[in-house]
Amino acid sequence: MNYYGESVTRLIEQLSRLPGIGGKSAQRLAFYIINMPEDEARVLAESIVSAKTEVKYCSVCCNLTDSDPCAVCSNERRDHSIIMVVESPRDMAAYEKTKGYNGLYHILHGAIAVTKGIGPDDLKIRELVNRIDDNVKEIIIATNPTVEGDVTAVYLSKILKPLGIRVTRIANGVPVGSDLEYVDDVTLSRALEGRSEM
Ligand code: ZN
Repeated sequence: MNYYGESVTRLIEQLSRLPGIGGKSAQRLAFYIINMPEDEARVLAESIVSAKTEVKYCSVCCNLTDSDPCAVCSNERRDHSIIMVVESPRDMAAYEKTKGYNGLYHILHGAIAVTKGIGPDDLKIRELVNRIDDNVKEIIIATNPTVEGDVTAVYLSKILKPLGIRVTRIANGVPVGSDLEYVDDVTLSRALEGRSEM
C-alpha cells in the first residue's frame, strides 16, 4: 500500500507500531498529522516531523506525493483521457487497490458542505478545471454517496458539461452514506463499471 508515497507509508508504519493502534487507526492518525499546524507537529517524534515536511501535493491531481508530478500522473501507461474525481487520497487508494481502473485521478480534498461552511472554493475544483484539455474525454465523479458527495457531483457536472466533456457518476452499488474507503473491492469495481451519464 504505497499509494501515498514513501514518507507517508513510513509514518503509517511507525504509528501502527504504537500500542492499540491498528492499521486503519494508524492511517487515520497519519492523515490527521499531515493536516496539523506545523508547530503542533514539531512536538511529536522526529519521524513525524520529517514525514510532514517531505509530503507535498501533486501539482496535477493534488494527491499527496514525494515527487511532483506523482507516480500516477507521470505514468505513461495509464489512460490520460479519463479522470476520476474523488474526495480524498484514501478514496483514490481504495480504487487503486481494486486494480480495475487505469485512468488518472483528481483529489478534491473534501466535499461541498454548506452547513460546515465548505464551498467550491475550499476544494481543488479550480485545479480540476485548469487541467482539462483536449486529451480529456471523460470525468468520472466518484465522490462519496452522501448528501455532500451528491451535492458536489451535481455542482461539478454543471461546470464540466458545458466544456463538452462526458461526465459520469459511479453507480449506486456503493451503500448510501458510506465512506468509499471501507467499501470492498468488488463493490467498488461494480460501481465503476455501472457508472452512468450525468
Ligand atoms: Zn498526480
